[in-house]
Amino acid sequence: MPERLDAFMARANAAYYAGRDPLGAAGDFTTAPEITQAFGECLGLWAAVTWTLMGRPDPVILAEAGPGRGTLMADALRAITQMMPDFARAARLHLVETSPLLREAQRARLPDAIWHEDVAALPAGPAILLANEFLDALPIRQFIRRGGAWMERFVADGAFAERPAPDAPLPDAGEEGEIREVNEPARTIAAALGARLAAQGGAALFIDYGPAESGPGDSLQAIRNREAADPLGDPGAADLTAHVDFAALARAARAAGAAAHGPIPQGVFLARLGLHSRAAALAASDPGRGARHVEAAARLTAPEAMGRLFKALVLCHPGLSTPPGFEAA
Ligand code: SAH
Repeated sequence: MPERLDAFMARANAAYYAGRDPLGAAGDFTTAPEITQAFGECLGLWAAVTWTLMGRPDPVILAEAGPGRGTLMADALRAITQMMPDFARAARLHLVETSPLLREAQRARLPDAIWHEDVAALPAGPAILLANEFLDALPIRQFIRRGGAWMERFVADGAFAERPAPDAPLPDAGEEGEIREVNEPARTIAAALGARLAAQGGAALFIDYGPAESGPGDSLQAIRNREAADPLGDPGAADLTAHVDFAALARAARAAGAAAHGPIPQGVFLARLGLHSRAAALAASDPGRGARHVEAAARLTAPEAMGRLFKALVLCHPGLSTPPGFEAA
């Protein structure tokens, strides 16, 4: 039975994340918070400044979606506790995570957190949400243009199959063979967050990879043991991701009443938050291994490494001043 691509991707990733910790030296891939503690520290200070722009609500929800090993939030909280203890006291920690295995890893580092299955389940109130490489794991639909109409891609026996898609959520135009991707869960999250941020205040910072403006093309990829794998073979054995359509998310949040800032390149964003000075300070206090910190910061910011493909996007209350890093963006 052919399975629609988004159903296949949801099933594959649920099995993948339920069964293993994919991060770290022995894992399938690594992420910015696992590369350097300075990443989470900068995001923690971003959240602290954003909290002051919100008028220092107390209590305030501090949330993260897809926290992995809990590294980003642990680093963020350490920086927040040092630099803005009032925010640390006001913050109520909420994590959105579906994998039981990763929840355990998070609990070890963040014992005071409250866990949720879904962003929509976060309690009401002013909130700051962080998410790094969360949206890219959410399931996409793919459509392909054939003979002047859209077909939708299904998966059957490890290969693509196509079925007519007269109701494709796309303009009825495109070049023969053109592929378009639609991430419905990500748009639903952006719309729901937009509505709650507009009504209750706060900001959501998403860091992920993808072009600023979405275009045609197949961006589905599978990573296993740090190498590209077949996305359609052996569901649950590899991490499946797709490029994030930032423009579509900003549109969905704006339609729900929120403001959106960015996307801007991760390298620009992190440099503005002071990543390089933090890396230099870490290097100075870590004799013998100092170069490691500087190299890690360069990896996150250099355009040819992670600095350009990765982007930062903020959705927020329309009355909030421009959040740190997004000035003149
Ligand atoms: N943010 C972390 C981990 C990125 S991996 C880091 O940067 O290191 C993706 C994370 O999202 C994992 O924690 C995974 O379990 C979680 N995840 C994937 N799909 C999810 C979903 N539908 N709902 C909630 N969490 C999800």
